[in-house]
Amino acid sequence: MDTLHLVLEEFGDRGIYARVEGALGETMTLNEVIAAEFATVTAPLEEVIEWLLENTKIRPGFAELARERRPLIVSSGFHETIEPLLEREGVLDAVELRANRLDARPDGWRVLFRAEHRCGTCGEPCKRQDLPEDGEVVYVGDGYSDRCVALAADRVFARDGLADWLAAQGVPFEPLTDFRALASRL
Ligand SMILES: [Zn+2]
Repeated sequence: MDTLHLVLEEFGDRGIYARVEGALGETMTLNEVIAAEFATVTAPLEEVIEWLLENTKIRPGFAELARERRPLIVSSGFHETIEPLLEREGVLDAVELRANRLDARPDGWRVLFRAEHRCGTCGEPCKRQDLPEDGEVVYVGDGYSDRCVALAADRVFARDGLADWLAAQGVPFEPLTDFRALASRL
């Protein structure tokens, strides 16, 4: 569910996207990149949510898996834009969501980051702190913010940038296609 990227493509300044993504992990932290990107979004939140509901699909099998497994979702996105999609899928109450929040100001959105601590491994506020202490952890991810935490999970299902990065690090993972295929392998 990469709603961040979709919202930026539709409502943000594409120039800033190209500029700051290159700095990610080099001169800017992930949170600095997200803050700079969303400061260029000025559309009313209701308009963005309506657009997301019309234009985004969640991969097949997600709702069934969510109802059965009640996963923890840790996102670099926003409660305000993710919850309407979970509600549409009928799983808002089936999952635990940890995400950032928004102050969607008309002169540019401000991101209210949920975590300010620095991870001992990657040095950024990171999802690793959200992993449960006990039990087998199966992690599913696709992006930059999934890298550090994926290294701490017992099993990883990955696609896109995360899959490329894990492969380059020599870290084993299973490819993520959709959630039905994933469920059949749990
Ligand atoms: Zn980390």
